[in-house]
Amino acid sequence: MSFGKAHVFYPQATSECCTAALLLEVDPVGLVRNKRGPAGEGRSLEQYVNDRPYVASSFLSVAIADVFGSALSGKSKERPDLAQTPLPLQATISVLPCRGGEGFLRRLFEPLGYQLSAQGLPLDEKFSEWGASSYFTVGLQGNVTLRQLLTHLYVLIPVLDNDKHYWVGDDEVQKLLRHGEGWLPDHPEREIITTRYLKYRRNLINDAISRLVGEESSDPDQAEAKHSQEEAAVEEKISLNEQRLGAVLAALKSSGAKSVLDLGCGEGRLLQALIKERQFERIVGMDVSYRALEIAKDRLRLDRLPSLQKERIQLMHGSLMYRDKRLAGFEAAAVVEVVEHLDPPRLAAFERVLFECAKPGTVVLTTPNAEYNVKWEKLPAGKFRHKDHRFEWTRAEFQSWANGVAQRFDYHVRFLPVGPEDSLVGSPTQMGVLTKGSL
Ligand code: SAH
Repeated sequence: MSFGKAHVFYPQATSECCTAALLLEVDPVGLVRNKRGPAGEGRSLEQYVNDRPYVASSFLSVAIADVFGSALSGKSKERPDLAQTPLPLQATISVLPCRGGEGFLRRLFEPLGYQLSAQGLPLDEKFSEWGASSYFTVGLQGNVTLRQLLTHLYVLIPVLDNDKHYWVGDDEVQKLLRHGEGWLPDHPEREIITTRYLKYRRNLINDAISRLVGEESSDPDQAEAKHSQEEAAVEEKISLNEQRLGAVLAALKSSGAKSVLDLGCGEGRLLQALIKERQFERIVGMDVSYRALEIAKDRLRLDRLPSLQKERIQLMHGSLMYRDKRLAGFEAAAVVEVVEHLDPPRLAAFERVLFECAKPGTVVLTTPNAEYNVKWEKLPAGKFRHKDHRFEWTRAEFQSWANGVAQRFDYHVRFLPVGPEDSLVGSPTQMGVLTKGSL
């Protein structure tokens, strides 16, 4: 290959089972010397020192297309029928960078019918305290044709990698449509797949998406029925999310704040709304999850914001369990659906970090109302809405906590329902707005 060597081994080949192992030796120095590397990298050290030789990336896709070209296009001279037949196939990718985490990995492969196993790799096996890396060993198992398996890998490996791709020329839209045929138009993550595959080249993305949607209309009735079903299933959730965002945004705006923190910002939905409001001159999102911050960075397109906009917003990695000087001096803070993720014995630490050290003028805090859970049809009794919730408060419990906080740290508080209000159990989300000083 132009970027190194590809070897294929057959460690086992019997009439029952055959394994083809594709090994790539990517030569990063050769890439720089021959100017064949990803464009626009400048002369940085990163050109020489990077993960390219060790991971599955767009180079692997290029190798698949080259080495297994006829299989990728579903052709076999000798056994054309077998090429069209779904087989029990397995694929293992030893080191797959998953920008977006295991959740994203599953969202890509599971809708295609694979059983997926993912084993996270540590940053350094000698220093477990350094924590997890974003690399996984991934196993896929499914009853698919060889062509399907290879096209899925061809398109989705670079999507997961999301680093500078080896390619991205204008003919990539063509390739994406060809290899995405029969599965991409219906994939629930079709837009993010297209965006990442085409590396955020907006003009190409729009072209690709409109052509994907166009291709979808082969059976409009069926597609329509399927989509309205999907929509009904998620509508409740989407509209509650949106109502919550709207309520928080309104409370932040009416506080008059110009600087605002989003604590536990997650994937950055609120940040995205905040940046559209001129009122907010300084916006900071913080989260303990590095992966969530990476997704937020993508969502906000931080790399591509014009510099004036970029100066307004910043993401930081941190925990609400520890005092942090960077949180001081803000006029307002949002803490949206975060408290219920904290261990109850550590709530006191959180209270001091937020209300004693950071002490913003206004704090807008939301949390689920446990009483409303009886109204969610799909939620078994006694279960929380999310498996990472450590507790869910009733309205009385939330109000007693927030009143206590207000009293201890010299704030006053008002409570607002968010979402459709039921006369018995209240609204699905409860919101407290705490303002510094007494009324
Ligand atoms: N506010 C976001 C995300 C809510 S999910 C939204 O409404 O969409 C809860 C978030 O809190 C997660 O992103 C989680 O990583 C974060 N979180 C949990 N414990 C935290 C801590 N100790 N410090 C900071 N963030 C934390």
